[in-house]
Amino acid sequence: MDILFLGTSAGGPTRQRNVTGLALLPDQGSEWYLVDCGEATQHQILHTSLSIHGLQAIFITHVHGDHCYGLPGLLASAAMHGRKTPLHIIAPAGIQHWLQVTHAMSESFLPYELVFTDVENMDAWHDHAVNVSAIKLSHRVPSHAYRFSEKHTEAVLDTAKLQAEGVPAGPLWGRLKKGEDVIHEGKKLISHDYLHQPYPLRSIIVGGDNDAPGLLQEASQQAHVLVHEATYTEEVAEKVGARVQHCSAAAVASFAATAALPNLVLTHFSARYQHDSERSPFIGDIETEARAHYQGNLFLAEDFARFRLDKTGVLSRIA
Ligand SMILES: [Zn+2]
Repeated sequence: MDILFLGTSAGGPTRQRNVTGLALLPDQGSEWYLVDCGEATQHQILHTSLSIHGLQAIFITHVHGDHCYGLPGLLASAAMHGRKTPLHIIAPAGIQHWLQVTHAMSESFLPYELVFTDVENMDAWHDHAVNVSAIKLSHRVPSHAYRFSEKHTEAVLDTAKLQAEGVPAGPLWGRLKKGEDVIHEGKKLISHDYLHQPYPLRSIIVGGDNDAPGLLQEASQQAHVLVHEATYTEEVAEKVGARVQHCSAAAVASFAATAALPNLVLTHFSARYQHDSERSPFIGDIETEARAHYQGNLFLAEDFARFRLDKTGVLSRIA
């Protein structure tokens, strides 16, 4: 599973960072999921290999503009590109109302169906590849995290067993690997008996804005990655009085350490953070503060940074 960041800025865009958006890509196929859709997310998508036709569902964490103002434009462009297949939107109920009003006002007609799920009343959402649950967070408006869990892991063929039973390597092995039962020398071989699942089912939590990371304690059990906002360092949060809305790097890193999360990716940085280390505040300050509290695998997101969660649950940056 890959995570591709489309925007990593909080509140407003900067020259280096667009507002929030993130794509999740399963290992195979062209299908993908979008979490949050800040303004100009569709422009960011144009700089990637993502196709609007492969987009399965959009998950919105909360109603603030830096997380959803890109929706009407993206939906309209999907229509212009000839999308016909339904698109799922999992979001606060207000988003559905807002889009209906926007479409009515602009006399827009989408030639595909929007299938809405109100996150406040959602038990779980799933398709053939993932199960998704929502976790309530703490922010100025209702905000949620989404926990994506894959439904299947790669099955591995027990070749030693096949060899021991005298089944020669060849097309029969391929069919068994695909889940097909086969006949060999008059005997029926059940695929299931020759497959094993050595890899864990991977889970990724993507948080919305949140000043209380402890709310993710239960969801973090068995999770492999937490993507969470770290809008400020402690010092800057103190200065701007933002403690009751957002998370500092220290707060989220301490939580990830307590929850024993193996991989942590910080994002949603205040626009005041600079990429030039000569200037202050420097984006590296966020990393320094987080590292003081968390010894796991830590990354700071950047626009267009792509991370791969391998089959064993290790996250690494690939682009
Ligand atoms: Zn935000």
